Amino acid sequence: MAVDRSTPVTLPLGFWRDEKRYRDARMRPLRGRDEAALLESGAPRTRAEWTTTVLHRCIDALGPMSSVDVEAVRSLTVGDREALLLHLRRLTLGDTLPCALTCPSCEEKMDLELSARELLLDPHPLDQRWHEMRIDDEEVSYRVHFRLPTGADQEAVAARGARDAETAAQQIARRCVDRVVDAEGTELPEEAWPGSLVEELSEQLETLDPQAELIINSKCPFCNHGFSRLFDVAAYFSKELGGREERFYREVHTLAFYYHWSEQEIMRLTLPQRHRYIELINETLSEDRR
Ligand SMILES: [Zn+2]
Repeated sequence: MAVDRSTPVTLPLGFWRDEKRYRDARMRPLRGRDEAALLESGAPRTRAEWTTTVLHRCIDALGPMSSVDVEAVRSLTVGDREALLLHLRRLTLGDTLPCALTCPSCEEKMDLELSARELLLDPHPLDQRWHEMRIDDEEVSYRVHFRLPTGADQEAVAARGARDAETAAQQIARRCVDRVVDAEGTELPEEAWPGSLVEELSEQLETLDPQAELIINSKCPFCNHGFSRLFDVAAYFSKELGGREERFYREVHTLAFYYHWSEQEIMRLTLPQRHRYIELINETLSEDRR
């Protein structure tokens, strides 16, 4: 039966605790019991909440923490969470991510195989938690003191139900600003912040945490048109796992019925292991029928 072995992984930016940064984490694959918990949690979740839940279940250690609380998972940057989700997908279902894309020009469908490892970026050389940038707006210059967006920011903004991705990005950028000061060093109230702040800050955030937004560049084999697509790991992975409550329990039942394993033992299997055994049962049953 499967044993919980955890694998060391590296965070591109890192987890901060007591003003010290840690990049090491340990994860284990998602198992049946995690799938059951996700299925039974009921209420529709935002992608940010879903990400927090799966990561919290499968991260065994984060820097010096060997027991990882949910707040620590929320406090990770968006890019670190994306990296951990890619690792979790790779550990649970393998490295290959088959994708179907439609060409925006000729509308032909094409199949693409992405690799989770190749989507993971190298650790970022950044070693500070707070950042500063200068904005020049109508001949006045400002200094903006800010941090990178985290899962907690994504959850808070999603809970407020932003109308579209752009509004959400604006709300997230505003949450990340600690203070804005003018050339004299006077702190400005939010209503006096320069008009270009959100736009310029969003660009900075993309540069500082590039793992946060995965862009796939592709070329259509039919019409040669080049195009880019955003790849949302949470949307992709949750679709692979989700919405299969009836099928999930049928699979558990099949394994219990033929192997006489306990529910606890079956829940320890990963999805590919469960499917492998069910395939073998089906093969044996069809041989017997011959
Ligand atoms: Zn095309």
